[in-house]
Amino acid sequence: STTLLTHDELLATRCYIDGQWIAGIQHFDVINPATGAVVSSVPLLGATETRLAIAAAHKAGVSWKALPAKERSRLLRRWFDLVVAHTEVLAKILTAEMGKPLAEARGEIAYGASYIEWFAEEAKRVYGDVIPAPQTDKRFVVLKQPVGVVAAITPWNFPNAMLARKLAPALAAGCTVVAKPAEQTPLSALALARLAELAGIPRGVINIVTGDPKTIGGEMTSNPLVRKLTFTGSTGIGKLLIKQCADTVKRVSMELGGNAPFIVFDDANIDAAVRGAMDSKFRNAGQTCVCANRIYVQDGVYEAFAEKLAAAVARLQVGNGMDPAVTQGPLIDAKAVAKVQSHISDALAQGATLAAGGAPHALGGFFFEPTVLRGVTPAMLIAREETFGPVAPLLRFRDEADVIAQANASEAGLAAYFFTADTARVWRVAEALETGMVGINTGLISSEAVPFGGIKQSGYGREGSHYGMDDYLDVKYFCLGDL
Ligand code: ADP
Repeated sequence: STTLLTHDELLATRCYIDGQWIAGIQHFDVINPATGAVVSSVPLLGATETRLAIAAAHKAGVSWKALPAKERSRLLRRWFDLVVAHTEVLAKILTAEMGKPLAEARGEIAYGASYIEWFAEEAKRVYGDVIPAPQTDKRFVVLKQPVGVVAAITPWNFPNAMLARKLAPALAAGCTVVAKPAEQTPLSALALARLAELAGIPRGVINIVTGDPKTIGGEMTSNPLVRKLTFTGSTGIGKLLIKQCADTVKRVSMELGGNAPFIVFDDANIDAAVRGAMDSKFRNAGQTCVCANRIYVQDGVYEAFAEKLAAAVARLQVGNGMDPAVTQGPLIDAKAVAKVQSHISDALAQGATLAAGGAPHALGGFFFEPTVLRGVTPAMLIAREETFGPVAPLLRFRDEADVIAQANASEAGLAAYFFTADTARVWRVAEALETGMVGINTGLISSEAVPFGGIKQSGYGREGSHYGMDDYLDVKYFCLGDL
């Protein structure tokens, strides 16, 4: 049995390139959003180090893809076991750099690890195809091969899981990776890499660079050795990266912003709908791309739902995520607080009213009161833009056709939710909603076993499930002739 690494051993101060822990010359601080304290300091790397990391990944790819899938699977499985064994320290590092309550951080470690476990299994099931040929003297064969060096850019809201669900399928497929975590939250990524090293994943297969996003992103998207970019983050940066990738025609996967509609029909179980709204809207203080962003409630249950939701929201405990009683941590930074405030004041100015919260929390800093707004209309900013904060805006609707039209009137198409007891409506509405994912009578839809991803301007590509392997595989066809 392996001795576990301690919190201090997993708390990084260096980057990981070609199996070496690189100190760098300049550094930047990682700040705890709950306290303002410095958690650690990591290297401020740029284009030169990124280029070295890409070259290392390219070199390591030769032997990594040549390994039997079963061997890659075994290494991933060992990595999974180590992540699970280190859940407690990983969760503490995550909460310190990102702010979410410790219970949610533990949940994220388990969720991230589930992708490593899943793709350890999928690694062995990359099947090809034999296609019947229309001529007797030929045979057609289809082979799946790793795309090669993958660049990964990840956000701060799930610092562990968003990276795990890119690294795991990439490695399973036989790709090698250079990853750049968000500057707010590099420590969870570096800790994951440390455990991958401990698991015996060879040098150069995983590389983590921290530093200036523009410079690192510029090298990743222009370097011809990089064959694919996978990105989770804002729609604006996603569009920029797609453009940058065009010059070298890289494959691209994009998991961008959402603006999830959450619909409660008259025939719904209202208590279940309230629970679903709490899960979907207030988890991670509303900072997820699948958070309910527009809550549409039908006339007949509007009052009852609003009242019950406000009561549930009043029970949330705001504070430092390290405190076990806390159920809502701080927002990530001052910019996030300002956005939430601007959405609320715009709504109030246009006639919405407060059913709960509405202001920065008495704790100060980046803490914000969990908020419920009544009387929200489609014209308000909060119904059009992703709020990414703990604010539930309640809109009223008349009938099914009306609410589907409103739900689909968005450029985003990631997740949608609805609550109803009518089976025919379940199919009708699920088919009509223009999103990549639909939750029916639930506010929690994520799992390693399902394809996570969006349509429209929420992006393309899928993470998780057997579909998740496709993002890291090229299809090669060969033709045998003269038979
Ligand atoms: P948010 O606004 O939620 O922080 P971003 O899209 O800015 O979302 O961040 C997601 C990831 O994209 C982070 O890792 C961030 O550092 C990175 N990023 C931001 N700007 C760029 C850029 N110009 N090039 C490459 N990566 C970038």
